[in-house]
Amino acid sequence: MMNNYTDRVTVKIFFMLIVSLIGVPAFFYYDNPIWLAVLFTFYGLVTNALSQIAYHRWICHTQFEPNFIARYLMIYSVVISGLGNPVQYVYSHLVHHKNSDKPGDPHNPKEIGWTGMLLGRYKTPDDYVSIRAVLQKKDVYFVSNHYWKFYILFTCVHAVINPWLVVWQAFNFTHAWFGMAWLNTVSHSSGAPTQTKGFTNLWMMGEGNHHIHHKNARLLDMSGDNQTDWAGKYVIPGLLAK
Ligand SMILES: [Zn+2]
Repeated sequence: MMNNYTDRVTVKIFFMLIVSLIGVPAFFYYDNPIWLAVLFTFYGLVTNALSQIAYHRWICHTQFEPNFIARYLMIYSVVISGLGNPVQYVYSHLVHHKNSDKPGDPHNPKEIGWTGMLLGRYKTPDDYVSIRAVLQKKDVYFVSNHYWKFYILFTCVHAVINPWLVVWQAFNFTHAWFGMAWLNTVSHSSGAPTQTKGFTNLWMMGEGNHHIHHKNARLLDMSGDNQTDWAGKYVIPGLLAK
């Protein structure tokens, strides 16, 4: 039995990667149609985007108040993302904000390196921060306390709809994890929260505007002068916020 949280995260990342590396080629080997792979990937991209917006912008920093449908779509996406329980995410992320690029930072790329970021070898957060933002969201708090039970439940639902969807669940976790590790590495690679330009910033829905985010975490539109926070500028106000 593995008791160390960091080790369990690494095992999860490897497990998802192996399921993807075997499962995705097997999907094509068994002559499944490409349109189905595109559909499953699209489903993953949408739920990954919603989970990223949910974990980071909504649950952690309360950058906006979601409408009813968005709220439950986001909670569903958080569960199916497999990224873990929101209370832990919020605690770790707020400790990161408090100590970013300093010794208490759970994921300082200068300290743990790109491999460490990729394998989830984060340092155990250990500092005082208020996690009121997540405790006040009662439904999120409830889901957080039963996170892996909900994850198994929805995995079973996927398996009933189409067993290959379970493979895609692992694949969608894998590319989401890679994107997040990449963002957290490049946006702190200079030893301070940095503006990350180009494709990475667009792919991460504007969160590459990291220097602005670290100055004012509750700011929904992180664009500043460059207008690239397309999620904070358009998607969230237009579709998700009240
Ligand atoms: Zn943040």
